[in-house]
Amino acid sequence: MSRDLPIRDSVALAPYTTFGIGGPAQFFATATSEDDIVAAVAWARERSLPLFVLGGGSNLLVRDGGFAGLVLHIALRGILQQPRGIFHVAAGEPWDAFVDHALSLQMAGIECLAGIPGSVGGTPVQNVGAYGQEVAQTIESVRAYDRQTGKFVDIPRAECRFRYRESLFNGPLEQDEPNRYIVSHVSYRLHPHGLPSLRYGDLQRAFAHHQDPTLAEVASTVRNLRRSKGMLLVPGDPDCRSAGSFFKNPIVTTDELASIAAALGAKPDGIPQWVAADHRIKLPAAWLLERAGFKKGYAEGAAGLSSRHTLALINRGNATCADIERLQDHIVATVFAKFGLTLEREPVLLGDLQLTT
Ligand SMILES: Cc1cc2nc3c(=O)[nH]c(=O)nc-3n(C[C@H](O)[C@H](O)[C@H](O)COP(=O)(O)OP(=O)(O)OC[C@H]3O[C@@H](n4cnc5c(N)ncnc54)[C@H](O)[C@@H]3O)c2cc1C
Repeated sequence: MSRDLPIRDSVALAPYTTFGIGGPAQFFATATSEDDIVAAVAWARERSLPLFVLGGGSNLLVRDGGFAGLVLHIALRGILQQPRGIFHVAAGEPWDAFVDHALSLQMAGIECLAGIPGSVGGTPVQNVGAYGQEVAQTIESVRAYDRQTGKFVDIPRAECRFRYRESLFNGPLEQDEPNRYIVSHVSYRLHPHGLPSLRYGDLQRAFAHHQDPTLAEVASTVRNLRRSKGMLLVPGDPDCRSAGSFFKNPIVTTDELASIAAALGAKPDGIPQWVAADHRIKLPAAWLLERAGFKKGYAEGAAGLSSRHTLALINRGNATCADIERLQDHIVATVFAKFGLTLEREPVLLGDLQLTT
């Protein structure tokens, strides 16, 4: 089987990422079928090479030295519609095009996730979410190749361990065995003729004087909001040469919140916050960055912050991964010195996930 899978060597990875940063892959293959996935894993294993799974490259920062191993680009295509709003979607389908497809069929459940770049296969990995929705609400099951057993498995939602920006596919278990699961298909259960979700404050404000907006109107408003923040991929827009939000919103205990408030001479309820699971509190990382002195448009050489969104680190033109990591380290150290809180990076750093097959 592996003889049929073309493997290229020394392939530049920067063009495969929205950051536009990073060195080459030593070897590169494109999977357009489940057989290709099996073949690629076998090829890498025979050579004791690490393997990295690449989707749309929109949550990825590639190191300048590139990746010494096989990068497997997931490009399986196809959308199968089944009764009762079930869609069985191949991992290489572009996510935003699938959102449009669902909207055209009056299917509710992912309208607030319009405009997010990347592939369908990338969505379960960090439980993609925005504007009051996350894919954990609609994913029915994930089909993936389990590299440990050498078999494809259908993993029901309840076993995907979805949390904020976390799942079975990138969570603590996955840290022990990175890239254990290679997602080939995702099944979503959408709601035929359902109402759009208006849980998020920005959307409630946008539709305050507009009764019963359609799914398409909500999706279009989400895209406009994203565009205004540089969070929509628009050719030529320098603010979207990024991986979206660079830091996760930290989740803290009430004691931690009290000490952050004390550092600011404020009361705990004076800090913007959301309720999180297990009696904890989620804080807006962008707000913390701003209080630590990092405003929109802040620049350090070729790396900087978006001029429209504090949380997006951007490539201002010819930035290296080292430039981005330097700015990241400066921000993390400054926020820690001010609030005693360690911010966590959201995008995957290729170099972190090296393992032998
Ligand atoms: C402008 C912009 C805005 C964004 N806005 C949001 C947002 O609102 N909400 C949000 O949650 N994210 C957002 N993101 C981040 C990103 O778009 C999502 O995380 C997206 O789902 C990543 O998918 P991808 O296919 O690009 O994954 P990649 O970047 O290619 O990979 C990311 C990780 O997923 C793994 N992976 C990818 N595909 C597979 C697969 N088939 N099987 C197993 N592992 C896989 C990779 O190995 C890697 O570890 C934004 C990014 C940008 C650039």
